[in-house]
Amino acid sequence: MSRPVVGIATQTLEAIPGELPPCWIMGQKYVHALRSAGAVPWLIPLIPDDRATLREIYDRLDGVFLTGGVDVDPSQYGEEKAVYCGRTDPPRDAVEIQLIRWSLADRKPILAVCRGIQVVNVALGGSLFQDVAAELPGAIKHDYFPTKDNPARNYLAHPIATVTGSRLREYLGPDPVAVNSMHHQAIKRLAPGLKVTATAPDGVIEGVEGTNGHYLVGVQWHPEELTDADSGMRRLFASFVEAAH
Ligand code: MN
Repeated sequence: MSRPVVGIATQTLEAIPGELPPCWIMGQKYVHALRSAGAVPWLIPLIPDDRATLREIYDRLDGVFLTGGVDVDPSQYGEEKAVYCGRTDPPRDAVEIQLIRWSLADRKPILAVCRGIQVVNVALGGSLFQDVAAELPGAIKHDYFPTKDNPARNYLAHPIATVTGSRLREYLGPDPVAVNSMHHQAIKRLAPGLKVTATAPDGVIEGVEGTNGHYLVGVQWHPEELTDADSGMRRLFASFVEAAH
């Protein structure tokens, strides 16, 4: 039995003059979480203008995994970029949105994490808070970004409540689940074709899935950092890899 191949779009690392040409990189933890769940991870270059090559890569994939990263460019959802919007990576937006559209057409499984849930929502026609703290009155703190002094990426920042009948409820159980939170943006207008499957105490959308039975699951937290301690997070990855198989 061959193992399913899961594609992961990379992200742009800007050139460092005299040291590095522009590079495409990806955090190792995502790759390890997918390997542990039985998938063959495959890093994808950001070549949106070479659709033929991108399509050749896509055709060899059994599933698409979308990771965390910089902000989706607000032009993708028809907004001007606010001062509190962060750095963007337009080639990554273009490649990921293309992979999502092809996957939806083919019902190829998608698991989306952090920026991933946001780019899925944008690809399907939704919009984002460009900064939760600036645009959502009453929001709790979600931007627990690691620092040099505190590099922990598994800090359990806030609980989420899952929705009855959802895939997340199946993997995580009926009780509130403590999750990490390393995001300053979130879903604002939910896209058609998605339903909410988890929320934070302030109502911020922390989980979605597709409405048509296709395996399309998005979470706003970083489950790849929690698989050691939380069997529910392992079930989440296992379900995706099983769907890809
Ligand atoms: Mn959060």
